[in-house]
Amino acid sequence: MRLVLVGPPGAGKGTQAQFIASNLSIPKISTGDIFRANVSGGTELGRIAKEYMDRGDLVPDEVTIAMVRDRLSESDAQDGFLLDGFPRNVPQAEILKKMLSEFGAALDVVLELVVDDEEVVRRLAGRRTCGQCGRIWHVDFDDKKDDVCDVCGGRLYQREDDSEETVRHRLEVYQEQTAPLVSFYADESLLVGVDATGPVEEITQRAMEALRPFAD
Ligand SMILES: [Zn+2]
Repeated sequence: MRLVLVGPPGAGKGTQAQFIASNLSIPKISTGDIFRANVSGGTELGRIAKEYMDRGDLVPDEVTIAMVRDRLSESDAQDGFLLDGFPRNVPQAEILKKMLSEFGAALDVVLELVVDDEEVVRRLAGRRTCGQCGRIWHVDFDDKKDDVCDVCGGRLYQREDDSEETVRHRLEVYQEQTAPLVSFYADESLLVGVDATGPVEEITQRAMEALRPFAD
């Protein structure tokens, strides 16, 4: 199965990507993994990407696309893959479509993890990090009432990334980029949405059921 996974920050996309890919016996291909593999492998593309990352700049689309193309050409990706983090926008989706058709292939399905904004804010803005051991606690899920780490006694704080304002901003950016991508795939009749609230195993189960009609 050739599958793209999309979902907002805080949807548990990384975790689901891993479980779904392993259930389907296909490689999970995330842009983060591809970047790291190219940089640590010392490839030409990795060297170029690293220059941008070291300056704190975004890696240009052409470089990302070339890395994705290389990765999708590898033998383990010939019978299927789960893409996580690519495509990020409609132009990338169009390039992916063209790339796959050159390989004589096409996407089977795009799975969207659906979580409403307030749930994302509750999940992310409820996180507290221990300043001493780095463990993350959650005010609701761990029923954390005080600001002391139960493991090491360190003081808990809220990371800037987890502040409600930052979380809402990240959601806005996500909606801006991804809403057009989601409607692009809806128009291509490839989009399937799955409710991504509740226990992790239940979400995986729901996803597997939603994907069943697309399995070979
Ligand atoms: Zn601690």
